[in-house]
Amino acid sequence: ARAFNFSAGPAMLPEAVMRRAESEFLDWQNTGMSVMEMSHRSKEYMAVAHQMEADLREVMAIPDNYKVLFVHGGASLQFAAIPMNLAEQNDTVDYINTGVWSTKAIKEASRFAKVNVVAGGDEENPTEIPAISDWKFSADAKYIHICSNETITGLEFQEEQLEVVFAQGKPVIADMSSNIMCREIDVSKYAMIYAGAQKNIGPAGLAIVIVREDLLGNARSDTPTLMNWDVYANNESMFNTPATYAWYLAGLVFDWIKTTGGVKHIAEVNKRKAAKLYDYIDASGFYSNSIKLEQRSVMNVTFSLKDSDLDAAFLEQSKAAGLLSLKGHKAFGGMRASIYNAMPEEGVDALIGFMQKFATENA
Ligand code: PLP
Repeated sequence: ARAFNFSAGPAMLPEAVMRRAESEFLDWQNTGMSVMEMSHRSKEYMAVAHQMEADLREVMAIPDNYKVLFVHGGASLQFAAIPMNLAEQNDTVDYINTGVWSTKAIKEASRFAKVNVVAGGDEENPTEIPAISDWKFSADAKYIHICSNETITGLEFQEEQLEVVFAQGKPVIADMSSNIMCREIDVSKYAMIYAGAQKNIGPAGLAIVIVREDLLGNARSDTPTLMNWDVYANNESMFNTPATYAWYLAGLVFDWIKTTGGVKHIAEVNKRKAAKLYDYIDASGFYSNSIKLEQRSVMNVTFSLKDSDLDAAFLEQSKAAGLLSLKGHKAFGGMRASIYNAMPEEGVDALIGFMQKFATENA
């Protein structure tokens, strides 16, 4: 029996995807081999790769003037690749700091350009996005970078903040590692979107870059080949051997999104899942969430117990009940339930049921 896995990533994948992968594992479509064993240049594998990209383009409604790149090195390598592809050492780049992942992106970008921190950075784990009135954009920034969902705290940009970012008229870059495809977005408002795969896309080992074509061709001359977006764009992301099996599994996830009603439907379910969990936490008197109400993440729900001495028992008993990986990130403490697209609503119901029981028994 499969448990409900609340890990922040690598995370639970849809059961239907896992079953299909299992059924195709040894012999993909009568080829006598696993996708894992195919040459990435073979006709069979190219068909898998092309379908995967087409399905991603469909589920995210990616406009034709954007390239989709399937890259190595996770989202973290993009922290450096972004300035290398878009700025020179003396150029200014704007970053809004909303937590640990923004901080890492800023640290890396500072090696390759002059970073202006628009706002934030005073605390390691802020529980709200800095007030818009305090944002200080620079006049000449090459781009503005945001982390649209801080995975560790569960702090997510809302329309209100996004509109202000877009209104600056600069290329907007978003790290969407932990909220890509959680709801419909207008890709055309962004210059570049990137995400590690291991949350809402598929297994670890793959990251996705969605970049507007006019931003290509500007990489610094010392950019390593495999960090240069042009190289990926000009070689169908196959300059070297790609993470073939991760691509294939991501393709199965995109197909699953299509057949379950698309991102629009998934977004409705996500909203419901998050709302019922936050509502329960707020009403419980036993658990609490410290994130500003309107900025709570729909994907990563953090909470603490009234008495942290009960943390170990909570984790042990939840695990025994088939509710896995609820321990919060060590930088923030407490608990975290990551409820990505693949987490069924029954998983959230089961979690709430367990939390109620635990609260009653330990009141
Ligand atoms: N950005 C965010 C928002 C993340 O949550 C993570 C990983 O959890 C990363 C970046 C780093 O991703 P990767 O491990 O793929 O480099």
